[in-house]
Amino acid sequence: MLLSVKDLFVNYGNVEALHGINLNVREGEIVAMLGANGAGKSTTLMTISGLINPVKGSIFYNNMDITTMQGHDVVAQGIAQVPEGRRVFSTLTVQENLDLGAFTMTDKDRINRRLEWNFELFPRLKERKDQLAGTLSGGEQQMLAIARGLMAHPKLLLLDEPSLGLAPILVKSIFEKIKEINAEGLTVLLVEQNARAALKLAHRGYVMEVGRIVLEDSADKLLKNP
Ligand code: ADP
Ligand code: ADP
Repeated sequence: MLLSVKDLFVNYGNVEALHGINLNVREGEIVAMLGANGAGKSTTLMTISGLINPVKGSIFYNNMDITTMQGHDVVAQGIAQVPEGRRVFSTLTVQENLDLGAFTMTDKDRINRRLEWNFELFPRLKERKDQLAGTLSGGEQQMLAIARGLMAHPKLLLLDEPSLGLAPILVKSIFEKIKEINAEGLTVLLVEQNARAALKLAHRGYVMEVGRIVLEDSADKLLKNP
């Protein structure tokens, strides 16, 4: 198992957001996390990323206990998070945004090779590498946010609502891109409101409801059982 989340409890003040989450991701999989707004999907991703500390439970990555590890150290271990909302630095260029994603790396050649790898995966970003990120379309900004996460050479990519607010044609191209990223050997844990599209892409899925996982199955079975 690449990622194993065990009996995770998270509170915001005295509001309970997660109540005993158990979740596994195998190497090479795309796993979808579905469920209504407020179910706890983002909280789960942020806790795995080391941005929120759980009250109880544990998180294992590659058999290492990362439960109390903080954000930057989690990235250095090989987990990248792309938060909701196409977060890019709009007054920096595309290339500068990508360079920021390589903060865990010191070897210049390695950074440049990674940049080239990213540009092959995202040719539109290469064409626009000297353009300010704020001038890109919404879809391109989302691609840039994902590409920035990929700069740190992660094995596991956590994606929070990558299709949110994008026109249908762009949603399609984001999902195709996620498939390509997975084919490049990355494991993906994907949070989506767009359940059907996510399940067409994913191998397995979890459905959350008010802080709990209420259903877990193969993507095929979840698709047939709406
Ligand atoms: P989802 O990603 O499934 O929409 P979230 O993880 O964002 O769900 O939210 C889970 C629960 O935690 C919700 O009840 C939400 O209102 C609450 N919550 C999320 N963020 C905060 C916060 N910063 N402070 C207080 N409550 C929060
Ligand atoms: P948004 O509303 O998300 O900002 P638009 O629908 O306005 O995006 O599209 C902006 C431009 O992006 C369009 O001219 C479209 O041709 C172009 N575009 C097409 N495919 C992609 C893609 N895969 N990624 C980003 N932009 C794309």
